[in-house]
Amino acid sequence: MKVTQHIAEAKETIVSFEILPPTKGKSIESIYAHLDMLMEFGPAFINVTYHRAEQLLKTRKDGSLEWVEIRKRPGTVGICAAIMNKYKVEAIPHLICGGFSKAETENALIDLDFLGIKNVLALRGDAAANEKFFTPNVHGHRYAEDLVKQIVALNQGHYMEEDIIDGAKTDFCIGVAGYPEKHCEAPNMDSDIYYLKRKLDFGADYVTTQLFYNNAHYYNYVKRCREHGINVPIMPGLKPISNKKQLTMIPRVFNVEVPSDLCNEMLKAKNEADCELIGTEWLLEQCRDLLKNKVPVLHFYTLGKPNIVYNVLKKLF
Ligand code: FAD
Repeated sequence: MKVTQHIAEAKETIVSFEILPPTKGKSIESIYAHLDMLMEFGPAFINVTYHRAEQLLKTRKDGSLEWVEIRKRPGTVGICAAIMNKYKVEAIPHLICGGFSKAETENALIDLDFLGIKNVLALRGDAAANEKFFTPNVHGHRYAEDLVKQIVALNQGHYMEEDIIDGAKTDFCIGVAGYPEKHCEAPNMDSDIYYLKRKLDFGADYVTTQLFYNNAHYYNYVKRCREHGINVPIMPGLKPISNKKQLTMIPRVFNVEVPSDLCNEMLKAKNEADCELIGTEWLLEQCRDLLKNKVPVLHFYTLGKPNIVYNVLKKLF
């Protein structure tokens, strides 16, 4: 079922999760162990992130250096198929522009369609580890809106080869990313919301937000989006915070603030267990407030921390 249909038919706020493929060399059992405990809460869908290849400088045995291309977390499509098969729940693969030509994207979409996947999250992706700025593949897309356009074209049966007439139409429901505290490259919020609206005008169906720790950012964002004529569901993204290192890592990586109260509490914590308790309590309060405000979905970035999300959901439902 499509995400938008799930939301339209739900009588209450629904729950969903985002997981990362395991690092190369680890088995899919680590994903099952993670999801087994969370399935109790009946998620409507599970997102699976996509991780592009990185160029790394490796030292050869003779001491010389060479660039090697490594994908640390392959398996997005396989995990989506496995999740659908094992748990009978919708899986949403993330698709990125970075590193992909349009032809490779088209082939990936055909694979997803054949697997019966009905939802995708269309993203640009970040700059590669060895780049300062995002650089598209020479035959690829520069912005997520271009990827949205390609998916919409395929939904209409338009393939890249012009001699394919009456091409089979795919039927993807398309999600895109939104940033309650602004995307790091956007000069201001109005500009970021302007480009978000373009993604929706080109045919995307809903928005999943970047994580945030202050619900006021989410409420203000939804309000501003509505003022700009964005009327699709905007799902809040929630990530547990569980250690002191994240206090500086999260703002740097995700361009979001960690509120002073949360930060001060964490700094006072004596050990990891205390940090986890503080992070759990904060997430619980965020969720209670979001539920009170009747958000369509609570979307959790579980990121290897299913216990915290489990404990929060156990107290909520
Ligand atoms: P875009 O919508 O293309 O926007 C990128 C920037 O360009 C913004 O500043 C925007 O304002 C601006 N912009 C957009 N269109 C235009 C235009 N036409 N002209 C000028 N400026 C424009 N990354 C991964 O690699 N894998 C993942 O699985 C993944 N999952 C994510 C899930 C969620 C919910 C979120 C919020 C992010 C995720 N990311 C993932 C990170 C994401 O790829 C980065 O944040 C990336 O830098 C931006 O992606 P986007 O789709 O928002 O890009």
